[in-house]
Amino acid sequence: MSVAKSKPLSNNPYITVAKFGGTSVADYQAMLRCAHIIKKDRTNRVVVVSASAGVTNHLVRLSQAGIGAEERENIIAAIARIQFAISCQLTCQSALDEEINELLSALSRCAAQQATDYSLQNSDEILSFGEQFSSRIFAQVLQSIGVNGHYFDVRQVMKTDSLYGKAQVNLAQLSTQAKALLRPKLNEQVVVTQGFIGSDQLGKTTTLGRGGSDYSAALIAEAIQANNVSIWTDVVGIFTTDPRITGQARSIKEISFGEAAEMATFGAKILHPATLIPAMRQDIPVFVGSSKEPDAGGTRIQRTVDSNPTYRSIALRREQTLVTVKSPEMLHASGFLAKIFTVLAKHQLSVDLITTSEISVALTFDNPFGSTQALLTQAVVAELEQLCEVSVEHGLSLIAVIGNKIHGSTGVGSRIFEQVNDFNIRMICHGASEHNLCFLVPESDANQVVERLHDTLFSNQG
Ligand code: ASP
Ligand code: MG
Repeated sequence: MSVAKSKPLSNNPYITVAKFGGTSVADYQAMLRCAHIIKKDRTNRVVVVSASAGVTNHLVRLSQAGIGAEERENIIAAIARIQFAISCQLTCQSALDEEINELLSALSRCAAQQATDYSLQNSDEILSFGEQFSSRIFAQVLQSIGVNGHYFDVRQVMKTDSLYGKAQVNLAQLSTQAKALLRPKLNEQVVVTQGFIGSDQLGKTTTLGRGGSDYSAALIAEAIQANNVSIWTDVVGIFTTDPRITGQARSIKEISFGEAAEMATFGAKILHPATLIPAMRQDIPVFVGSSKEPDAGGTRIQRTVDSNPTYRSIALRREQTLVTVKSPEMLHASGFLAKIFTVLAKHQLSVDLITTSEISVALTFDNPFGSTQALLTQAVVAELEQLCEVSVEHGLSLIAVIGNKIHGSTGVGSRIFEQVNDFNIRMICHGASEHNLCFLVPESDANQVVERLHDTLFSNQG
């Protein structure tokens, strides 16, 4: 098939970095829809893809120690089915299938090694295959509709440290490498590259943490000084709350960086929480839309927006753990909090909310079961018990009401708590951020609380 050569870009072109999530590149039809999104808007010059839906979860299993040969084969066969089901729709199938087969063989070698000789580095190597498959395939889907899409290995530019599983990006190196190796290609090509993965100083593959492709897209946009980031997912933008909880939830047209960052942090699963950091640094607007309904609009996240309502959205995060540490010695003593946080830092645990009284401190942790992140384990609790009395409560949900000047507007607290006074509120954080008021409720009450709050706070909008 002949590929239409894109016209060279002007010296200072408007560049959009478009990122497609796992469901957007799940199968051939989904990829084709995304390819048309790219074709329709010529500013889309860089495409960042996630792995096809389900593939990274398969790879996570493969990356664990001691997986038997039969299970490994079954997992690799399942991944192969997902990828070949897409490639068989393309006219360039045989060359692409050859590439897929080579990757599958390499994956199978890494998995066999992991089964006997586990390492975190090899784990990242294994996890990186999902994006390697999807980016190669997506470049071909673009070509099949006449867009000059080319695969680019992001590991040449996304340089990181060697903290496998959660690597930190070296921004200076990324910027230099991206300007030298990636940016010049955009005059001729649409570059298709991988989210989520990078490489360390030795050239070994690293990953940025689950869901990290959004973050990759924003980092690349920052490095090449793009004008816009588009995050294409399976929902029409960011909603006032999870639409599965209430049918009243609606898509937000425009939201400021500050509010959106709080939403991402407090559970709106739509964006990786770090995504907005590079966008804010370089002042790059981020659009979030649905690749299934590209014309249905979405949410634009940017520095300044037309309206700054007190209530913008309600985020809900489940599986929270509340830890209360208590020590009579804390009364008028100094250094107690420092000791507690030293233990937490040693275990790489990050605290979300914190409240203190004269002799006790309450802390919350995101502690989802089955998560790959650092967890509050029995070992951590035992270590804290050396310092003080510790009590741990599970089964809580964190509700964050997000908006503007929440900390300083009169009546905000009473309006919110009036609605929920018949529920058992476990902890309240109010005042530290101008954008949120957070509290914990028992898991079983969470949906009802959100629904009720949404009804009241958003009843007269829209
Ligand atoms: N494929 C990776 C994951 O599933 C990264 C991403 O999708 O953003 O976590
Ligand atoms: Mg995602």
